[in-house]
Order: sequence, then C-alpha cells, then structure tokens
Amino acid sequence: MSNRADDTQLTEDRFRALVEHSSDVFMVVDRAGNVSDVSPSVTHVLGYDARDLARFVDDLVDEPDRERARAILAAAEARPGGEPVWAELRVRDAKGAVRWLEVVVTNHAGDSRVKGLVCNMRDVSERKGIEAELEHRAHHDQLTGLPNRVSFLARVDSAVEEAREAGTSLGVLYVDVDRFKEINDSLGHDAGDHLLHDLAHRLRSCVRPQDLVARYGGDEFSVLLEDLDSVGAATAVADRIADALGEPLIFEGHEVVLTASVGIAVSHAGDETTGELMRHADLAMFVAKDQGRSGWELFDSPVDPGEPVRRELEDELWDALDSEQLVVRFQPEFSLASGDVVAAEALVRWPHPTRGLLEPDDFLPLAKETNLIVAVDRYVLRQACRCAREWWDLRSPRERAVVSVNLSPRFLRQPDVVEDIVATMRETGADPRGLRLEITERTALTDIDQTVETLEALRRLGIRVAIDDFGTGYSSLSYLKRLPVDVVKLDRSFVESMDQLESDVAIVQAVITMSHALGMKVTAEGVERVEQAARLRRLGCDTAMGWYWTSAVDADAMADILQDGVVREDIPVVALARAAAAGGN
Ligand code: C2E
Ligand code: CA
Ligand code: CA
Repeated sequence: MSNRADDTQLTEDRFRALVEHSSDVFMVVDRAGNVSDVSPSVTHVLGYDARDLARFVDDLVDEPDRERARAILAAAEARPGGEPVWAELRVRDAKGAVRWLEVVVTNHAGDSRVKGLVCNMRDVSERKGIEAELEHRAHHDQLTGLPNRVSFLARVDSAVEEAREAGTSLGVLYVDVDRFKEINDSLGHDAGDHLLHDLAHRLRSCVRPQDLVARYGGDEFSVLLEDLDSVGAATAVADRIADALGEPLIFEGHEVVLTASVGIAVSHAGDETTGELMRHADLAMFVAKDQGRSGWELFDSPVDPGEPVRRELEDELWDALDSEQLVVRFQPEFSLASGDVVAAEALVRWPHPTRGLLEPDDFLPLAKETNLIVAVDRYVLRQACRCAREWWDLRSPRERAVVSVNLSPRFLRQPDVVEDIVATMRETGADPRGLRLEITERTALTDIDQTVETLEALRRLGIRVAIDDFGTGYSSLSYLKRLPVDVVKLDRSFVESMDQLESDVAIVQAVITMSHALGMKVTAEGVERVEQAARLRRLGCDTAMGWYWTSAVDADAMADILQDGVVREDIPVVALARAAAAGGN
C-alpha cells in the first residue's frame, strides 16, 4: 500500500531515478492511451524499445484484454484525486509471447510535471502460471484426471439453471463401487488406485462426449446427463455402466470384477435444486445397495423421504447445543524444524444418543444450511477458549501453542463477529494471543473488503488467522496478498498427491516460497507418513499436522501432549528435528 501512496508524490525526476533499474515498468499516457513517456526498464522486462510503444492499448495489450485496458484508463481518468485503479492484463512482449502484467494506473493529470495517467506495471506471469495450476488442481481429481466434486456440483448448478429456462430434463447418476474398501485392503493401495483409474476410463466410455463424469469422493463417481430425452436414457446409461464393469480388470495378475450400485435422479425443467438432486441420487443409490448390490435404482418418490429425518436431526442438534452434548477434540500441529507442538486444532464431534459418534461431515453440512452453524461455531469457540485458558500456563511464553478454531462463512459474516469473539474470550478468560481462527480461502474471498476489515480487527487484538484448505478454491494469489493472515494451511490433497506427482511438489514449493515472501507461515495437513513430513520439511514447510503424529484427541490428552511437548517418543521426525534443533546435524 505504501508504494501506492508514494506514487502520488512522484516527481518526474524521482520517477526517472526510481525506474532506471526497476523491474517495474512505468508509463505515462493520456486518456486515449497515447504514450508520452515510458521507463527504460520496458526493454529488459518486455523486450521493447521505448520508441516501439506509442499506444498503450493497441501496441502492448493483448486483444482479449483491450476493452478492460481502456476501461481502467477511463476509470483512472475519472479519479483526478489520484486514487489508483488496479487490474491484471495480458500483454504481448516484443517476441509476441503473452505475459501477465499487474497494472496500477494513477491519475497525475493535475501535476504539471507529469500531466497524465501513470501506469505502474509489473510482470506477474509466473504467479499467474501458479494460479492456473492451482485452479486446475482445485477442480480435478489428481488420480483419475476427472473433474472433482466441486466442479461437478458447479456444473449441475448451471445445468439446473439451463433446464429451468429451456424446460428440458437432466439426470444425475451416483455411482458407488461395491466393496471397494475390501479390495483396497486386500490388494493394497496401488491396486486400488489402478482400479479407480481404470474405472474412470470405463465410465467415460458409457456416456456421450458432452456428459460429465466426475470423481465425487473416494470410491464414488457421479455423472451428469444434460438434455435428457427420457428417463429411459438415464437408466440406459446405468445399464451400460453395469455392462462395462462386467469385464474383469487385471492388476498384477489378479483378476478383479468390480460392481457398482447406481442411484439415478431425474429432474424436469429444473424443478429440483442441485442439493435435492444429489440427495435423491444418493438415496436411490442406498436403495440399490440395499437390494443386493450391482444394480441401479431410480429415485421416483414425489416427496423427499429424507426430509423428516433432516428436520429431526436439526432439532436434535439444537438440543445437543443447549445441553452441551457436542464434544471438541484437538489435533496437534508440529513444527517441522523443532518437532515441538505449536497449535491444537479444535474439531467438533457429536456423540449422538442413537446414531453413534457423528463426525463433522455427518452433521455440519446440514447445520451450514441454516444459522445452526453459527451456534455450533460459537459453541466450539467457547469450549476451545476454555481449554486455551487452562493450557495457557502449561508452557513458557516462548513455547506457547495456539488453539485453532474453524469458522464458517456464516459465522464470519455476522455483523458483530468481532464483538462476538471478544465476548467469548472475556467470558472464558482466554488470552487472544492463544487463539487462532481458521477460515477457508473461499470464505475469505467471498467479500474480500469485509473480510480484510474483520481480520485486521481480530489481529489487532492479538488473534492469529489461518487460511484453511488452501488450494481447493479460488487460488487467487493476488488476493491472498491482500489478506492479513499469519498462516496458510495447505490442503491435505497436496500432501497426498506429492508422492506421485512431481508437478504437485513444484506447486507446493511455489506456494511455500510465495507465502514466505508475504510473511506467512505454511502448514500442511494430512501428513500420514514420515517421508511426507521429511519432504515437506525439506521444501521449507514450517509446520504440519496429521495421523503420522496422531489423530484428534480429547482435551485431557491434548493437555498431556502440550506438557510433554511430544506425542510419542518413537516418532523419528521429531527425534530427528530435535537433534537438529539441539545443534546436531
Ligand atoms: P479441516 O479444518 O480441514 O480439518 C482437518 C480434517 O482432516 C479433520 O477432519 C481431521 O481429522 C482430518 N485429518 C487430520 N489429519 C489427517 C490425516 O493425516 N489424514 C486424513 N485423511 N485426515 C486427517 P474432521 O475432524 O472430520 O473435520 C472435517 C472438517 O469439518 C474440518 O476440516 C472442518 O472444515 C470442519 N469442522 C470441524 N470442526 C468444525 C467446527 O467446529 N466448526 C466448523 N465451522 N467446521 C468444523
Ligand atoms: Ca481447519
Ligand atoms: Ca483444512
């Protein structure tokens, strides 16, 4: 921000001195984009001779972005006060290659020494490349190359919209491989991966090119059929899937025959929402499974039989909150350099009186549809703050660990969210320095101005902030730069795929480097093996969490871990890191 403030005070002399060796390119243009001055750095940044560039838009900006380029000049022209206008534009360098420039235009027309719009441009192509890779990763399954759940749901959303407008039908198939876990356990992970890969291929061959096949979850696939002629067309696809699976798969001499249970939901003229369609397909799949695997079932009930169950669960959850039935477990996060505990993430569980211990995925999606989630988040925050208060004196200030709490978008969007958090800390006596809040990339970027304001207020209080599930959402690194956060939490999928994909190692490295440059720490989630921890450590990752150390434990066990500093003495990376920290090698 400060360099932008400086812009307004730029004199022509300083301007020249500043830009001589800069990797930024400065240009002075009029409102039509005619260039009156350009810094010599344009030669080493873009290969041009300054004289080649007479017109900013036509000589430099790439075709698709010219309209936007004109728009930002017009916007800057309309701000004689010198408030900068910002954009990222594709340009062509002297060799004709496309490069991305971050362009900040400031109106200095009133300054007699400048008399124009100053464009400050920086090559951000490398960052854009990383963003594009992150973007692709976030929307595709790494193992099969198919689109993932997130992109599937987004496509169904727009398909429902289109069907509503055009009055057409669409179908969703939910494909669940039977007994996959058994196969995985008996033949091993590699075989499982191989089978899933092969299966993805077969599923693709059962549909039209315009249909969408996605990997929905571990051994679940989903299919979207748009412009469906009839319900029969959807069941025909299910029949083809059954046929395609009939052929045995061969892996390392083993012959495996897979079967799958398929649930089908068809919607006419976009009558159902995406959520309803998915629920219907899911339900039909369960019926298919119930009726002895390897078959399909069509959802045909006019009323959603899941509805009363959902309502009941909702009521029970409110009761559970009132009577403090929900429990909070903690999962420790470790420094990869010293092996010491640096954080404890609060993770909610619901010991349900009849359904057994419910995991967040079993009830948070439901809670997230209403304000229930705000109550859940507040509840967990309160419990976590109580623990933070209790644990505050367990360790010396230098070694103190933070308690980390997940916040949902709805919680963060409360108008009085900061007061809400402060009240909870007061009530429990927790020190703000002992608290970290986790919000996802998606939540943070939904209303970035508001988010920045909230996060800044929280950080002024001494509360730390982490970006959760990094790499699964928007992946806009330029926005990340604007967010006042302390920690970037790399999503588990990176750690998982780093074993097989060197491209993911490269991207993890890039994210770490970039985060460090922005003054943020990086933590990795889902570390299950020592090699993963070691590798992350070599890549410069600061901290990590995962089953390699331990899964989430109850508050008492977490207190023990904090007191002892380690989970289990037999964990080599801890021993190794400790030896290194103690001055060994
Ligand atoms: P998250 O914030 O990404 O939390 C990490 C999840 O990964 C946890 O699942 C944790 O048990 C799991 N995990 C940790 N280490 C490993 C590992 O080595 N391998 C694997 N496969 N998994 C590992 P959990 O507890 O089921 O939580 C799921 C999600 O539910 C959380 O994901 C978080 O988004 C949400 N959640 C949990 N508690 C709360 C809460 O109190 N409020 C809100 N808003 N969301 C919560
Ligand atoms: Ca989290
Ligand atoms: Ca996470």
